[in-house]
Amino acid sequence: MKGNATEEQTQKVVDWIEAMGYTAYPSRGVERTIIGAIGDDRGKAALKAAESLSGVERTMPILKPYKLASREAREEDTVISVGTAVIGGGSQFVVMAGPCAVESEEQMMATALCIKGEGAQIMRGGAFKPRTSPYSFQGMEEDGLKILESVRAKTGLPIVTEVVSAADVDLVEQYADILQIGARNVQNFPLLKKVGQTRKPVLLKRGMMTTIEELLMSAEYILSSGNEQVILCERGIRTFETATRNTLDISAVPVLKSLTHLPVIVDPSHAAGHWKYVIPLSKAAMAVGADGLLVEVHPEPEKATCDGLQSLKPKKFHILMEDLNTLWPCLRKRPV
Ligand code: PEP
Ligand code: MN
Repeated sequence: MKGNATEEQTQKVVDWIEAMGYTAYPSRGVERTIIGAIGDDRGKAALKAAESLSGVERTMPILKPYKLASREAREEDTVISVGTAVIGGGSQFVVMAGPCAVESEEQMMATALCIKGEGAQIMRGGAFKPRTSPYSFQGMEEDGLKILESVRAKTGLPIVTEVVSAADVDLVEQYADILQIGARNVQNFPLLKKVGQTRKPVLLKRGMMTTIEELLMSAEYILSSGNEQVILCERGIRTFETATRNTLDISAVPVLKSLTHLPVIVDPSHAAGHWKYVIPLSKAAMAVGADGLLVEVHPEPEKATCDGLQSLKPKKFHILMEDLNTLWPCLRKRPV
């Protein structure tokens, strides 16, 4: 739409697009409104006629296969607010921290008090765990969700927690502030569609073997199901390197930032697989323009049911937050 187009003109274009058999996705930016028309590729030439409607500046095809996720459809960063956290847009570097798995109320309370005191804004903890081995601890399930709820009530920290199957979405949605989709489920399309129907923000992790384009296509499933609040997470990919659990694809952050308006965060814990590398990788994430971190912290990592080796102890988490606070004024994004 032209910069001076009225709301009424925009609505008329939306109605016209719908009458043509397409779904209209208006995105109202500061400079102008862009209306995405999503539908059958074969009839798209007819949409050119929208240029004769008043208020329309021009029509153009979105060339990327991920239509709604692309910067072509929406120029400005998507900003997602959860509690005090503002994810995306560059105003904050949001830290989400906590253990891999919920193990007990005491463990979650100790972690929550520690991370909150250091300035983390969101608490993580898995109640449903997707484990490589069926013999490993699978998570406390609903009992774990209840612990998260109780710790949130006592500390005010919002919760990000994983949902592993479409059948569990209704349950997990009742407890979570952000629904996490794990690396192993990045292409579980029924699950993506189901979380797309919720009104909760979704933290979508990149799979260990998914390309950036495939990750964006997965985000597109959620967006096209009606949920605009998607946070992407780079958590390391599988390469020939064995010195780390995965290889953190740090370049994915600026690449994603240029291709999509969605917020991008980094999980250095699953990338590194060892606590020793978590602080340097976190600093790298801030330096390349990530919107935040998802990091594993455990009060007693030696007793953790999973991922203890890659979890920071409270003392190390303190150092991480101190470093990030020092770096933020130098590294925060500036308009280019
Ligand atoms: C997790 O965050 O605990 C997790 C299982 O991560 P990923 O899906 O990235 O392996
Ligand atoms: Mn983990």
